[in-house]
Amino acid sequence: MTARHIPIQLVPASAPSLLRPEADDLTQAVPDSLGRPMRDLRISVTDRCNFRCTYCMPKDRFGRDHAFLERSDLLSFEEITRIARLFVAEGVRKIRITGGEPLLRRQLERLIESLARLDVELTLTTNGALLAQKAHSLADAGLNRVTVSMDALDDTVFGRMNDVGFPVARVLEGIAAAEGAGLGPVKVNCVVKRGVNDCQILPLAEHFRGSPHILRFIEFMDVGNSNGWRMDTVLPSREVLARIDAAHPLQAVAPHYRGEVAERWRYRDGMGEIGVISSVTHAFCGDCTRMRLSPEGRLFTCLFAHEGHDLRAPLRTEADDDNLRRRIRAIWRARDDRYSELRGDATRPDKIEMSYIGG
Ligand code: SAM
Ligand code: SF4
Ligand code: SF4
Repeated sequence: MTARHIPIQLVPASAPSLLRPEADDLTQAVPDSLGRPMRDLRISVTDRCNFRCTYCMPKDRFGRDHAFLERSDLLSFEEITRIARLFVAEGVRKIRITGGEPLLRRQLERLIESLARLDVELTLTTNGALLAQKAHSLADAGLNRVTVSMDALDDTVFGRMNDVGFPVARVLEGIAAAEGAGLGPVKVNCVVKRGVNDCQILPLAEHFRGSPHILRFIEFMDVGNSNGWRMDTVLPSREVLARIDAAHPLQAVAPHYRGEVAERWRYRDGMGEIGVISSVTHAFCGDCTRMRLSPEGRLFTCLFAHEGHDLRAPLRTEADDDNLRRRIRAIWRARDDRYSELRGDATRPDKIEMSYIGG
């Protein structure tokens, strides 16, 4: 198999001046300091979860006494919608609802309904536990698609990953319900930890082969401070592809658009497509167009950031939307994050947790 290479292109700070509108011109999208436009907004609606995936919320750090955010700390749906509308005016074209486990947030459908009125692609990432019961109401509210996380096909291995003994069958029911509700094809995300669930690569691939769903393998990342990440626990995407290719030959597929995070591959026999997300071995910061909003309204310009920008206070005191837009724009304009490309500081102890900001 020939490994395909996606070139990383960093646009230099001296990008063409066409990309640099006047400070007060609120009609044009503004690039960050590395020339990247703002296109995606990830909204984390809760820091709570009904799983304890060892790579995300290990039980010893997220036990009974863990101080989760209080309900009163969370942005209301009205506040989230107001911010989202400003982001769309700033050029955002995709909004993903995430968490924690987003389906734990009460009446989430109300938020989906408001966000669906914006001119964006609206998606949600879930562990699938509550999807079977909620797929239809989410679709009725206007959700476009879902991504479901699923790290194994075998119950024992899956239980070891989610650490609450949650059965595979119920996640599969959720995926089927999503498809039935018109939220498919579903993207299925599998985080691979060497020696823990890499035995599940082929079974998962074979389960979804021939279905409309797209299985994507994600390299285990050093996000947060609590998941015990070490480089030798990462199974590089090249190895994932080699294992699948040996059983079912693969062929590279061109990305849908510049900056697509997952590298696409199709089965040569026409039985569908898979993806790999090589966040560790092949960083894609050069094309990273994402902003992240935390459950209580802090804005993060990178998954590996250690501090966010508070939007909740200005949101609650600032009546003028233009002023809020200027604030968002200034944060984006100053953005110079490229953690994964540098990966110099994997051990710094103050990174935000994935369960707080969402993947
Ligand atoms: N609870 C939902 C779920 O699991 O789909 C949404 C939030 S979860 C933080 C979002 C995504 O981040 C999931 O697909 C999860 O597998 C991924 N993720 C969490 N920790 C990760 C890590 N250390 N490395 C790679 N992916 C991770
Ligand atoms: Fe929960 Fe998702 Fe994190 Fe697993 S990955 S602990 S399901 S937030
Ligand atoms: Fe984007 Fe930060 Fe991830 Fe790089 S490390 S791709 S800048 S979120």
